[in-house]
Amino acid sequence: MLPAPFEYHRPGSLYEALQLLSSLGEAKVLAGGQSLIPLLKFRFAAPAHLVDVNWVPGLDGIAEDGGALRIGALVRHNQVAASDLVSTRFPVLAAAAPQIADPIVRNLGTVCGSLAHADPAGDWGAVMLATGATVVARSVRGERHIPIGDFFQDIFTTALEPDELVTEVRVPAPAGRTGGTYLKLERKVGDFATAAVAAQVTLAPGGTCERAGIGLTNVGPTPIQAKRAEAYLVGKRLEDGVIKEAARLAAEESQPVSDLRGPAEYKRDLVRVLAARALRKALARAGGGR
Ligand SMILES: Cc1cc2nc3c(=O)[nH]c(=O)nc-3n(C[C@H](O)[C@H](O)[C@H](O)COP(=O)(O)OP(=O)(O)OC[C@H]3O[C@@H](n4cnc5c(N)ncnc54)[C@H](O)[C@@H]3O)c2cc1C
Repeated sequence: MLPAPFEYHRPGSLYEALQLLSSLGEAKVLAGGQSLIPLLKFRFAAPAHLVDVNWVPGLDGIAEDGGALRIGALVRHNQVAASDLVSTRFPVLAAAAPQIADPIVRNLGTVCGSLAHADPAGDWGAVMLATGATVVARSVRGERHIPIGDFFQDIFTTALEPDELVTEVRVPAPAGRTGGTYLKLERKVGDFATAAVAAQVTLAPGGTCERAGIGLTNVGPTPIQAKRAEAYLVGKRLEDGVIKEAARLAAEESQPVSDLRGPAEYKRDLVRVLAARALRKALARAGGGR
């Protein structure tokens, strides 16, 4: 199908982009277009204006700065997958990036676009929940820092105002003995997850768990932070019985529905299995293993 008519805008600066978003009313940001263009073609979305931010300078950086990895609005999934900085310092992101879609989508789709789109099947949501990221949003009114735990509000719905542009997402640099990973089951390569789990743990000097982050993909209306499982782990030695109980809690916190990818009960049990494996891997990496 063809999209409904829209007016196309190509701002050459952040200032211009924010002015356009503020003044146009019914406008949508166009980043990688990998989610928005299909929506336009199916006429699930019919905005009067598209603001293409691909020519805005300064939004394509990926760098560690001020204790965080800063991923700019135009950083593509593949840039994360290819980043040496990410592969050496940010294991959850390094594990997730190559599992997103296929090479063509990864070449165009952006991390920030994926978060703004808020598809519960999107992989970055769970990763950002596990790592405790912050979304940075700009509008003509100024800049807001939105903790990722407050960002996803409902299916395809975020805390962003219609005129706000996500300029970057900040992922805290892992402290001391930290490890993590992202495990995803998909029906075939390139598919969205049947279910997936992001896990990151930080160990205290004595070996107990100081911080745990667990994010779940495609088992609820939003990416889910398994808060009870996280709280259960803190202060404990991550022995296998503890990991199994945390994985059971994470499965309880998931809210899957039955669909083409399988029955809800299957997906809930998949969360349990993936969470236990992800936590074991995170623990091994926190202890210095691969
Ligand atoms: C065949 C296929 C398979 C896919 N498989 C996966 C998968 O396995 N895992 C996965 O996670 N994703 C998958 N995707 C989605 C893909 O990752 C998209 O790249 C991503 O969801 C959206 O990023 P984008 O840059 O393309 O955003 P766009 O499509 O340009 O925009 C998406 C939405 O976000 C808004 N938006 C974009 N950027 C910003 C911003 N900076 N500030 C404010 N709003 C913004 C837009 O207005 C729009 O509403 C798949 C897509 C396709 C086509």
